[in-house]
Amino acid sequence: MQQTWDVIIVGGGSAGLSAALMLGRSRRRVLVLDEGRPRNRFAGHMHGVLGRDHSSPLALLDDGRAELGRYDGVTLRSGVAVGAEAADDVAPDAHAPASGFTLDLADGERLLARRLLVASGLTDVLPDVPGLAEQWGRGAFVCPYCDGWEARDRGVAVLATSAAQVHQAQLMRQLSDRVTVFAHGAQLPEEARAGLLARGIGIEDRAVAAVIADEAGALRGIRLDDGTEVATDAIFAGPEPEPNDPVLRSLTVDRAAHPMGGEFAVVDAMGRTSVPGVWAAGNVTDPRSSVPYAMAAGSMAGAAINADLVEEEVRAALAAPSGREV
Ligand SMILES: Cc1cc2nc3c(=O)[nH]c(=O)nc-3n(C[C@H](O)[C@H](O)[C@H](O)COP(=O)(O)OP(=O)(O)OC[C@H]3O[C@@H](n4cnc5c(N)ncnc54)[C@H](O)[C@@H]3O)c2cc1C
Repeated sequence: MQQTWDVIIVGGGSAGLSAALMLGRSRRRVLVLDEGRPRNRFAGHMHGVLGRDHSSPLALLDDGRAELGRYDGVTLRSGVAVGAEAADDVAPDAHAPASGFTLDLADGERLLARRLLVASGLTDVLPDVPGLAEQWGRGAFVCPYCDGWEARDRGVAVLATSAAQVHQAQLMRQLSDRVTVFAHGAQLPEEARAGLLARGIGIEDRAVAAVIADEAGALRGIRLDDGTEVATDAIFAGPEPEPNDPVLRSLTVDRAAHPMGGEFAVVDAMGRTSVPGVWAAGNVTDPRSSVPYAMAAGSMAGAAINADLVEEEVRAALAAPSGREV
């Protein structure tokens, strides 16, 4: 008979592995299904993560996976989930009868679980500027708190594809007095322009043609449409955040537009979605989620799912004929 997992976690990044840790420590049978493409895989170093500042983001996940090896209920495997459905009686062989979910994988396999946690992150859809993708995580970044300090006192270009990057530029002005906003498609309101100029931030209105690198591939600057080259040491950009949420969509969880762009699943403080039995945590729920936030959200969701399963098991025990163990 096919195994029914107590919990399947879709995504093995900071959020998913943190949830698995809580569930593994609660002796739950947990499957972490991971495609292996964490959002920050482009970055050599991660910052703002207490105890791990300026360390490799991939090493953090390696360490997390190794730690989970202590808990025999936790299984890690690679794979891609494409959709899920609510199902009755998914756990006829489990210690508590339960409704739950089927989870479909890209290779056609179908798995069963009593609860689902979706921690599949998001995809940064970069502005269509030649050369930008090659610099992503090396010379071009999204988050001043993650990578701003390394650009302190240096030449900083903010590639403004929307007015939201005005805020990014003002944050970077805290770190360098050599910040220029390249208004690449952004209509900057007069008030925002005045605020930039008032703090000594340059504004370049000519269109950007490409991001340019030296022979070793290191960021050199920005080429404008008219051929002018502007040297820069770091670029901050505003990609469109697109949640990796086919599983949540297939379950029709409630979503809402996020001020930073995109539509994201709505969750409560514990990561509970609008669909009973389905949780979500990390960047798939919020584009602002940093690694510490994703870890906290995953950890909370893991504990909440365990508590939910315990409640179900109490109900099952109460419903069982007197004296019979379930
Ligand atoms: C360039 C860059 C630098 C960054 N630097 C920092 C930093 O210095 N400090 C910091 O705190 N934050 C940083 N961040 C943000 C950080 O990447 C995120 O906060 C963090 O990765 C969110 O964790 P998560 O677990 O929600 O998602 P992720 O880490 O993205 O993990 C999601 C996992 O789910 C997998 N997945 C997706 N879809 C499926 C599916 N259908 N089936 C199975 N698996 C799936 C993915 O492949 C991935 O392995 C940076 C981001 C970028 C882009």
